[in-house]
Amino acid sequence: MDTTSIWEGTSAEVGFPALSGEIEVDVVIIGGGITGITAAMLLSRAGKSVAVLEANHVGQGTTGYSTGNLYVTLADQLYHVRDKWGQETATAVAASRSETLDYLEGTVVEFNLPCRFDRRPHYIFPTHDSQVEKMQREYETLRDAGQPASLTREVPLPFPVDQALKIDRQAQFHPLIFVQSLAKSIASDRCRIFEDSKVVEIDDDQRVVRTAGGQVRAEKIILATHMPIGFHLVQTEVFPYREYGLALRLKGDSYPEGIFWTFEQPSHSIRSYEADGTKYLIVIGELHKTGQHDDLEDYYAKVEAYARSRFDVERVEFRWSAQHYRPADELPYIGRSSTTKDTYLATGFGTNGLIYGPLAAAIIADDICGRENRWADLYNSRRFTPAKSAKEFLKENANVAAQYAKDYLSRADVERLGEVPRGEGRMAELDGEMLAVYRDENGEWTVLSPVCTHLGCIVHWNGWEKSWDCPCHGSRFRTDGEVIEGPAIAALAKKAIRD
Ligand SMILES: Cc1cc2nc3c(=O)[nH]c(=O)nc-3n(C[C@H](O)[C@H](O)[C@H](O)COP(=O)(O)OP(=O)(O)OC[C@H]3O[C@@H](n4cnc5c(N)ncnc54)[C@H](O)[C@@H]3O)c2cc1C
Repeated sequence: MDTTSIWEGTSAEVGFPALSGEIEVDVVIIGGGITGITAAMLLSRAGKSVAVLEANHVGQGTTGYSTGNLYVTLADQLYHVRDKWGQETATAVAASRSETLDYLEGTVVEFNLPCRFDRRPHYIFPTHDSQVEKMQREYETLRDAGQPASLTREVPLPFPVDQALKIDRQAQFHPLIFVQSLAKSIASDRCRIFEDSKVVEIDDDQRVVRTAGGQVRAEKIILATHMPIGFHLVQTEVFPYREYGLALRLKGDSYPEGIFWTFEQPSHSIRSYEADGTKYLIVIGELHKTGQHDDLEDYYAKVEAYARSRFDVERVEFRWSAQHYRPADELPYIGRSSTTKDTYLATGFGTNGLIYGPLAAAIIADDICGRENRWADLYNSRRFTPAKSAKEFLKENANVAAQYAKDYLSRADVERLGEVPRGEGRMAELDGEMLAVYRDENGEWTVLSPVCTHLGCIVHWNGWEKSWDCPCHGSRFRTDGEVIEGPAIAALAKKAIRD
């Protein structure tokens, strides 16, 4: 299945060189998503020499697979932060995000980025009476946080919605063009950006990072890889989930203007986008833990059915899936790694990272430049909050432990390579050894160890995206074993073919 996102389908790659040879800079940033590129902008402006190492193409990680909405509240609702941390913290979260939204708008204007940034209202509506109380709580939390929230019965959707929470002056943009065009604007001798430069080794003590073609020595290292790569304590506090997105063409012209979410859980998200005179309706939904999908479910079909039941759909143009990491205590983790002095990380954004990413970039850049940042303590990556995180921490880590036990005891899908259907992957037990086997459309097999190179869980086949996904911490691997995303650095081990 083609899983090109609407953002990839409506933009052109920028084209930066791959790293070759050795260079030395003040700061090396691993990852060229919205977090990495905004960090590069802030640091190079502050006079630091910077190198960005991007494994693939700038912006084409989760940033280029998001919905492109910019909002002050949180996808899981701000009132959960209030319930856990109090109204003062909820107010601070909203203020830090509102400030970052304004900063992003200023960046778009300053660099004249052609990413179609527009201020839009944000509507969140109940789909059942049981959700009305949630709406009231979210409204009160935002109102008390000084945000422009109101309750309304006028919701500009082409299907009946009785009432909604409305938040004014939120925004939308093309997230991939934002990152690509910003990267192009800031690239210089002092801010060097490299693509096709996957980091395969990090020496924190020597502060050297290596790719297949070269290495960078730096004073500071920033892991802007969405989930920090390698081993970090924070990986037990953030939990990987995948969601599914569609961009559709409608028969009429009822493309709604604004950000639209439902209060149901898991929620649906709706927005429109226009590129070169063609309009699209974007619908996102159907959440599950990475690597723990139900093989019988067609998640895309469920999102499509949701869209068709509410809009006059002509056809589906793009379909994609992407991953986010939910934090244990509702807040992301931003700052220094707990194990090293000069390495920074930023993770646990949930589906709020188009603002949390640039906010993380600002917090980290300020720390590196010796400046105070008033939001640093709020999101401190080294915080220890057992009372606030225990419930999620225990639930999610019990789930990880259960995956270990289940997968090491589970049986193979097939006993002979020939039983693997073309274009599919299966777990095979051959000579007593469990193997992850992919058979391509031409009938050729790739045989891999199914043991995730991060912490040893057993990967699961993802037939929609043709990948091997780890159900524990969200590492994903291509059919040839190379890492796609997640904390793993090394590829799945190749095994000899035997039948
Ligand atoms: C379906 C979905 C919809 C979303 N919608 C929204 C939204 O509307 N609004 C919002 O605020 N948030 C949204 N989010 C969340 C948001 O997209 C992310 O939080 C944000 O894009 C993360 O940005 P990032 O730069 O930290 O990570 P990424 O964009 O993933 O960038 C990380 C980069 O690191 C690179 N990398 C990884 N490993 C290595 C390595 N070893 N060497 C070199 N490079 C490496 C990757 O290739 C990647 O390009 C959504 C998320 C999902 C899943």
